[in-house]
Amino acid sequence: MTEKTSDRNLTSTQEDYLEAILELTEKRVVARNMELSSKLGVRRATVTRALKLLTQKGLVNHEMNGYVTLTDEGKAIARDILARHELFRHFFRDILNLEEDEADEIACKIEHTVSGHALDKFRLFIKRADECEGKCPNSLKLKREEGCK
Ligand SMILES: [Zn+2]
Repeated sequence: MTEKTSDRNLTSTQEDYLEAILELTEKRVVARNMELSSKLGVRRATVTRALKLLTQKGLVNHEMNGYVTLTDEGKAIARDILARHELFRHFFRDILNLEEDEADEIACKIEHTVSGHALDKFRLFIKRADECEGKCPNSLKLKREEGCK
């Protein structure tokens, strides 16, 4: 699944669209151009162009009435990105102890670049840090005020 995303040669922005559509369509069956425009902070014309490309790639169904859904393949890629987002948010928020907003912001950037081998290592490290909590003499989790000055 991880490899699939890179095989497709999607840009970070395109991956963000898939992620945003998944989040919107999980609440309701379809997303609208307007909602994507406000969620991603871009103009509606920009959304329209991006959706056209994603439709050509077979990842999105863009209906004439402005409704947007993900194809099965688009959904698989979006789920993969969202899972990375959640993993990194957990790492930055709960292990490095950053504020939620900051953790979210960083997660949304590196979810596009960390994949494959590095992602597996990250997952393993985070799992170990979680398991260590309360059992190991030195928790791997940082306190809010800890850091190199
Ligand atoms: Zn994200």
